[in-house]
Amino acid sequence: ESLDYEDKEEDLIPRPPVVTVMGHVDHGKTSTLDAIRNTRVTKSEAGGITQHIGASTININGQKVVFLDTPGHEAFTAMRARGANITDITVLVVAADDGIMPQTVEAINHSKNAGVEIIVAINKMDKEGANPDRIKQELTEYGLVPEDWGGDTITVPISAKKNEGIDELLEMILMVAEMQEYKANPNRKAVGTIIEAKLDKGKGPVATVLVQKGTLKFGDAVVSGCVSGKIRAMFDDKGKSVKKAKPSIPVQILGLSDVPESGDKIYVVDDEKIARNIAQKEQDKAKEEKVKKQEN
Ligand code: GDP
Repeated sequence: ESLDYEDKEEDLIPRPPVVTVMGHVDHGKTSTLDAIRNTRVTKSEAGGITQHIGASTININGQKVVFLDTPGHEAFTAMRARGANITDITVLVVAADDGIMPQTVEAINHSKNAGVEIIVAINKMDKEGANPDRIKQELTEYGLVPEDWGGDTITVPISAKKNEGIDELLEMILMVAEMQEYKANPNRKAVGTIIEAKLDKGKGPVATVLVQKGTLKFGDAVVSGCVSGKIRAMFDDKGKSVKKAKPSIPVQILGLSDVPESGDKIYVVDDEKIARNIAQKEQDKAKEEKVKKQEN
């Protein structure tokens, strides 16, 4: 896709890391994400209602980190099937009183295949049956050798419930981000990925976009799959109206003709007419494929 061209090295500048918390059901993904969010709520934000847009931006000592909401298992599989590769770092949550389970293995494989860094959070350390050494042993069987065992996999013992180890986990995320030097060019037409979309009764189609390249701006003409539009409102994860969003920043946008698909790319183009044309072509293509399938 020519709209998604590669940038020159000299045009790239640092961007915040994008993190997803993954792991087996009940190992504490939601609790970990909540603990992270709660430790980082500043006074000015406290009392404000965090908007559910599918992602949140957290400030750690002046540095931004973006957390994607842990998708439900099905949504996650669907995103992956579309090849959405939008995360930089996986926080792999493993319950210390349990062990590596099927969805843990799936998360490991997916992260490895996508070239995503893995930080292991050994959760539920407060529980009586917690056995971090057993978890570490199991990790080695999947090629993740803990640092304290001579490997290069970072493991952090935490208790999401008791809010312990969360600062250490955040420190490790920042350290990995610093080493990896995630970068993007903010000075170009934006390209992003739809991470959530729905039809709102009052507002019409609303979609959360994770900007990956360029700067997404109010008034931009956009196309995503068969859907086109012009951004007529944009909100950050605190529900605040914003005029632009740089790489790694999630924003909810209004102004699309229809509900786009999660996992699809979204591109800024010169004007609405071009956006409509591209969307129409995509629609025709989709119809043709449907007919072909029926013929076979
Ligand atoms: P998810 O399915 O991976 O999102 O897991 P949840 O965050 O919903 O947690 C599953 C259960 O484990 C809930 O009952 C949590 O209260 C509990 N839990 C999560 N973290 C901890 C922890 O650190 N210690 C203890 N004792 N329980 C926890």
